[in-house]
Amino acid sequence: KPINTLTEEQAATEAAELRPQLTKWGKQYYDADAPAVEDDVYDRAYARLVALEAAFPNLVTPDSPTQRVGGTTRGDLPKVTHDIPMLSLGDVFSLEELGEFDERLRTNVDEDFDYNCELKIDGLAISLRYENGEFVQGSTRGNGQIGEDITANLKTITSIPQTLSRPLTIDVRGECYMPKAAFLALNERREAAGKAPFANPRNAAAGSLRQLDVQVTADRQLATFMYNIADYEPLNTRSQSGLLDELAELGFTTNPTYQVAHNMAEVGAYIEQYQAKRADLPYGIDGIVIKANSLPLQRELGATVKVPRWAIAYKFPPEEVQTKILDIEWTV
Ligand code: NAD
Repeated sequence: KPINTLTEEQAATEAAELRPQLTKWGKQYYDADAPAVEDDVYDRAYARLVALEAAFPNLVTPDSPTQRVGGTTRGDLPKVTHDIPMLSLGDVFSLEELGEFDERLRTNVDEDFDYNCELKIDGLAISLRYENGEFVQGSTRGNGQIGEDITANLKTITSIPQTLSRPLTIDVRGECYMPKAAFLALNERREAAGKAPFANPRNAAAGSLRQLDVQVTADRQLATFMYNIADYEPLNTRSQSGLLDELAELGFTTNPTYQVAHNMAEVGAYIEQYQAKRADLPYGIDGIVIKANSLPLQRELGATVKVPRWAIAYKFPPEEVQTKILDIEWTV
């Protein structure tokens, strides 16, 4: 039913059904690494709850999935507190919605600014702590405030440097993922052994990393792309694109496909380019992330309880039902 035809009571009833349903699906997805439904089923239910809460703000509850970063922590893994929270990302599913995000941001920002376009890697977020250039602790996002200590697991991943090229004390964030070839081979082995296959590379990566037995992680051929830092002060750069370059100089693996876009026409071209290349990439992506390129502007814009205000994810349609969504012309 269109939301503008609902009474507040009807909306409340619907929201009260959606919240526990989404929470349950979230637990299966984040905590057990075994989703019960396809992502687009979850995404549609989530988008409906967002729309209901936007139309009837009284319905927002602190425990709503829209107000919390998904995921908790395994009881048997040690915990890590993130001094600077690890957030999720707001998402949009059409170029129109992406244009609305851009317009909202430009209304709130006086100066002109660029975006940095990046691939949205289909893995799980990790945080790597370095003290004086030495890797000391690695963790999962968890609920954003408290994650799991997976230092020993992360030490098995060859793309994570033990020592940086400069003795910095920093928390670097990014994505741990399982390359497509490793995912297919793993599922073949699991099926041959009578075990349930992983639903997708993201769940496979999460299930492989959140392991008490480090040898299991070591055997799973995980890889990383780092793309963020909790506090940019120790870096020389003041832009998101420069951050990716500087992280690479420090020894991290970063994704080389990023591109600075001066306007939404350039963002649209980037989306079109990578949507077409998606199937040929050796790792899964589920969309594109656009980020205000200035790090001071990112800081100024800040975040809600769940998502940064300076970035948004444009989600691709599920791979099997990809349609011609790029018919829309961008006007510069
Ligand atoms: P998200 O995964 O959609 O987006 C946020 C994450 O994107 C970040 O935490 C980060 O890990 C990642 N990311 C990848 N590349 C990035 C880049 N270049 N820059 C910044 N971040 C990047 O958000 P979420 O809140 O973690 O999870 C929601 C997603 O999980 C939805 O897609 C939803 O479909 C899925 N989900 C599915 C189920 C299910 O039952 N199928 C349940 C819960 C959630």
